Amino acid sequence: MTKPVDADQESFLLGDTVVVIVRSVRRKSLSIEVGQQGVKARAPLRMRISTITQFVESKERWINRHLAALPAPVPELALRSGAQLSLLGSPLELRVMPNQHGKVVIDHGQLNLPVKQSHLPIESSVRNKLIRWYKEFAQTELEQRVVQFAAQMDVPANKRLNIRVRDYKRRWGSCDHQGELSFNWRIIQAPSQVLDYVVIHELAHCHEFNHSKRFWAIVATHMPDWKTHQSWLNINGADLYRL
Ligand SMILES: [Zn+2]
Repeated sequence: MTKPVDADQESFLLGDTVVVIVRSVRRKSLSIEVGQQGVKARAPLRMRISTITQFVESKERWINRHLAALPAPVPELALRSGAQLSLLGSPLELRVMPNQHGKVVIDHGQLNLPVKQSHLPIESSVRNKLIRWYKEFAQTELEQRVVQFAAQMDVPANKRLNIRVRDYKRRWGSCDHQGELSFNWRIIQAPSQVLDYVVIHELAHCHEFNHSKRFWAIVATHMPDWKTHQSWLNINGADLYRL
């Protein structure tokens, strides 16, 4: 049996699972979405709730199978001294230096991070400074690689190759028709060759604006073992989101 979970949000329980109903004017039929954020039933604006719950109940086994197959959410890394970070695939141990000024410095496998007292909790200050540092590091590393590989890959001269480092939620890079390249700063935590792969992938889009056979042939010319690095991302990519 289903019963309403709370009066404000239109939702109901299917076993232990909250199903949220999302109505829209344009929608003509019902559909179910199972994701990290939970289960959603997308429905036409005026469909009766009993029709929706009956449909969802009839799909209970399918929903449970998909919920079980979801990867466990990655817990956020606690940014205290001793936390294990990664830079270009090498481990770095975080050392927080409270009430100190100055730059972030790498020293013998340690990342020394001075942090001043502020209105923020110390862990937020550490996170902000650390991510700023990672982004700057990523910008420099990516610029060098783009220059190097663009020359090797005969990227057309009309492409601008401006590089931006961004906070993407689910992609590692992008390239538009003008050659504006954007990269996810988190990629800087991955091994150097994975970074190379992402750069080569995006630059290959300067030639082929799709993922056709021709596109992958260009990638393979410049990186014969690209599949290894792509699968590294598929397996380890979620860990790069712990920060
Ligand atoms: Zn692509």
